[in-house]
Amino acid sequence: SIPITYQAVLRHRFLMAMKHIPRKRFGQNFLTDGAIIDSIVDAITPQAGEPVVEIGPGLMALTQPLVERVGKLTVIELDRDLAARLRLRSDLDVVESDVLKVDFRAIAARLGVAKLRVVGNLPYNISSPILFHLLEQVDVVQDQHFMLQKEVIDRMVADAGTAAYGRLTVMLQWRYAMESVLFVPPGSFNPPPKVDSAVVRMIPRATPAQLDAKLLETMVQVAFSQRRKILRNTLGKWLDEKGFSGEFDLQRRAEEVPVAEYEAVAAQLSQK
Ligand code: SAM
Repeated sequence: SIPITYQAVLRHRFLMAMKHIPRKRFGQNFLTDGAIIDSIVDAITPQAGEPVVEIGPGLMALTQPLVERVGKLTVIELDRDLAARLRLRSDLDVVESDVLKVDFRAIAARLGVAKLRVVGNLPYNISSPILFHLLEQVDVVQDQHFMLQKEVIDRMVADAGTAAYGRLTVMLQWRYAMESVLFVPPGSFNPPPKVDSAVVRMIPRATPAQLDAKLLETMVQVAFSQRRKILRNTLGKWLDEKGFSGEFDLQRRAEEVPVAEYEAVAAQLSQK
């Protein structure tokens, strides 16, 4: 039989020669624009030795410049062909898994750190579930830098009173300070996505309100279920059922209520 080292060399050559055909079901749009890649890495400003975790490394467009700066990187990739390529590198710790099943607290524990820097050009088809999965584990997050559909980032950073303001806005702004740091046109990818993209920086808030996140989530869902109606007809009943007794102007529509007010109501109800 062929010695294992020789097998590894053959496998490496084979994989390098093999062209990867982008898989639509995995949301594969690979970054090919060097200037954009540099700008994203600059926005992240990775430092040597930092515990950086990349979601969806793909063909390593971001992975390579990141690992050059930090030295060792943890990467999470679902596509088994891509994961096999990544495993050939000794400077990558490859987690071959669906990111929605990944326990980030376990990764932090394994690396012996309290908090992780999470980055990635995310698969757009599951971007909201990924954001919510990380929200549940935000205690081990130092910061997040994600490429997403621009329209999703517009909703994340929206101000109250605008059309983009909604459930995603409230659920994320409650827990993170966020800013859009870069616009990325479709031509920067292969294949180009049908939508504009952007990069968002998300930093967990140091002193979040003490509240039951599930309760806030339900409240916001009820409030925005019929966003044209005033809250008396939607949220009013729900608040009565919960026995809410504080000040809250129900003559407004859901999109007119600032995040801090949703937070305050949820915090009060969480005391019960
Ligand atoms: N980082 C690469 C780049 O910028 O060129 C690839 C980005 S591509 C938009 C998304 C990547 O996420 C692909 O490599 C894809 O295989 C991977 N992916 C898709 N669904 C995933 C999942 N559920 N868990 C982990 N990785 C996933």
